[in-house]
Amino acid sequence: MQNGEIKLDTVLNEVEEQIRIPCQNLNKIIGKNHAKVLKAFQEVRVTDFHLKGSTGYGYNDAGRDAVEEVYARVLGAEKALVRGQIVSGTHAIAIALFGILRPGDKLLSVTGKPYDTLEELIGMRGEAPGSLAELGVKYGQVDLTCDGQPDYEGIREALKEKTKMILIQRSRGYEWRPSLNIAAIDELISFIKEIDPKVVVFVDNCYGELVEDKEPCEVGADLIAGSLIKNLGGGLAPTGGYVAGKGEFVELAANRFTAPGIGGEVGPTMDFNRMFLQGIFMAPMVVGEALQGAIFTACLMEKLGYAVSPRFDESRSDLIQGIRLGQAELMVKFCRGLQKASPIDSHVSPEPWDMPGYDSPVIMAGGTFVQGATIEFSADGPIREPYALYLQGGLSKEYVKLAVISGLREILMD
Ligand SMILES: *Cc1c(COP(=O)(O)O)cnc(C)c1O
Repeated sequence: MQNGEIKLDTVLNEVEEQIRIPCQNLNKIIGKNHAKVLKAFQEVRVTDFHLKGSTGYGYNDAGRDAVEEVYARVLGAEKALVRGQIVSGTHAIAIALFGILRPGDKLLSVTGKPYDTLEELIGMRGEAPGSLAELGVKYGQVDLTCDGQPDYEGIREALKEKTKMILIQRSRGYEWRPSLNIAAIDELISFIKEIDPKVVVFVDNCYGELVEDKEPCEVGADLIAGSLIKNLGGGLAPTGGYVAGKGEFVELAANRFTAPGIGGEVGPTMDFNRMFLQGIFMAPMVVGEALQGAIFTACLMEKLGYAVSPRFDESRSDLIQGIRLGQAELMVKFCRGLQKASPIDSHVSPEPWDMPGYDSPVIMAGGTFVQGATIEFSADGPIREPYALYLQGGLSKEYVKLAVISGLREILMD
């Protein structure tokens, strides 16, 4: 192992040298996003009493209004619904889709198969009780081309059938494809709106927030949704999600979130306001740390001979770093090393398990302060070809580095 250590040290020095420029480029985006967040706080005139919350119905909660106004401005949206009662990203997306779609309407995904948890919601595996399919909402899908770009001709063809809502996924999710950057989303939305100006364009923004200096609503998205235990909560939000976009659509989503007639006017904020505000204040920096961790990981793993996606110097529009380890055993070992480096649950050893909704066992590592928070550091992947592990988040880049080196040691040990 002595020689292995010396070799790793040399490689690490080379990696630090190579990632200097990509990390510096990132600083420009982090700086711009910090300025954008600060400006939002100042324009909304956030004050001490906004940090306190309400109970019960939560009528006249000025803090909640301030939170939603700040988030709307940061997201470039007219309006935002930002709530601790939204339990996850999937829930936020569900509110958006069920809020807009009615029986007989059609939803069209233009970025291929949507994120796993949406399959049941849409009813792609049969008419699951309560799914959009059961309500009579039709679904269509245009797959990405083999290089992971939108299939414009396919979309033009699909739009010949009347379509109410378009679904675009910004992040790669857990697929070996590039994330869709804001420039590509801009072009895609312009193309779609030219064909049908009335169609409601929805973007699943999970993992994408603050990775670039613009958000989907700034390039024409009508509605977006995401989770607060990913990017925007800055690692401080203990739960929650958001829907943002054009006022009329956010209101329809709010009616689905609570009930028609009360919409977003109710909803106690309890102790969430301070953490939602402090979280979004920290988010540009935390997202930057996670991205620097991902750049480090991509560069190091590629040097050691593993295929990575994206590569360290490729542009990014989400937090996810794919590594193709190529063997089931290596996935398990690497995850065990990552887990050992966690602040929480470092003493437990990850085992592959049959997760509901997946057709092969899944291995996961992640010792987080907030359960399942993927803005903290975590890794997961289905144990099947191409034996790829997806890493995301990291509250500090130094922590990501320590964890990845710990993962590597498990692989290199024997
Ligand atoms: C995480 C994620 C979701 C779902 O969010 P949960 O909080 O896990 O329910 C949906 N879409 C994408 C692209 C995601 O990354």
